[in-house]
Amino acid sequence: MFDSDLGTGEGSVVRRRAFLLTSVSAFAGVVLWSLRRPRLVQAKAERGASKEVTIVEFSDSGERLKTVHVRKVVKTENEWRKQLSQGVFAITRQADTEFAYSGEYWNLHENGLYRCICCGNALFSSDTKFDSGTGWPSFWAPIAPENVRTMRDASFGTVRTAVSCTECDAHLGHVFDDGPDPTGLRYCMNSASLRFVARQMTVKSSK
Ligand SMILES: [Zn+2]
Repeated sequence: MFDSDLGTGEGSVVRRRAFLLTSVSAFAGVVLWSLRRPRLVQAKAERGASKEVTIVEFSDSGERLKTVHVRKVVKTENEWRKQLSQGVFAITRQADTEFAYSGEYWNLHENGLYRCICCGNALFSSDTKFDSGTGWPSFWAPIAPENVRTMRDASFGTVRTAVSCTECDAHLGHVFDDGPDPTGLRYCMNSASLRFVARQMTVKSSK
């Protein structure tokens, strides 16, 4: 049995490949057919935007509201270019990095939260901000783990962990494991990716 298999091994592989290709083609055909059905056909941009993500909403006063499923913010390069300045576009959409000590927030010590400059998603709180001495705003945790994503970044000949906004994929910066307690993490962010919202003083009315 094995002898005969070995004897026709090459032919078997070819046949198997042919079978696989046929299967893949058939599968692709099903997918194409599905997409062509009128009620499932949507504009290209809308298809990309239909992906849902889970984030935690926060009020401008920093109050945690609720966990929600929202449609991912998807825009074309031209749309982002219209919305953002050239520098912010380069950092958030092309993963550039601002110069140390050049940004707006590395030395900011006010109470408040930091939202995504692109989509407004809440990202960090002043409660976890610390002075890292690097010239970039640094935090030991995101405001909610759901609100940021991390991915391996092997650019510039070194392996780092890039951090992006869950809701719109904006590049925010990188996270390192040399941060302070309690997490030991240092989220090293670009000021340009963030929009600071000062904490509102809430005055409770007495009944
Ligand atoms: Zn965003």
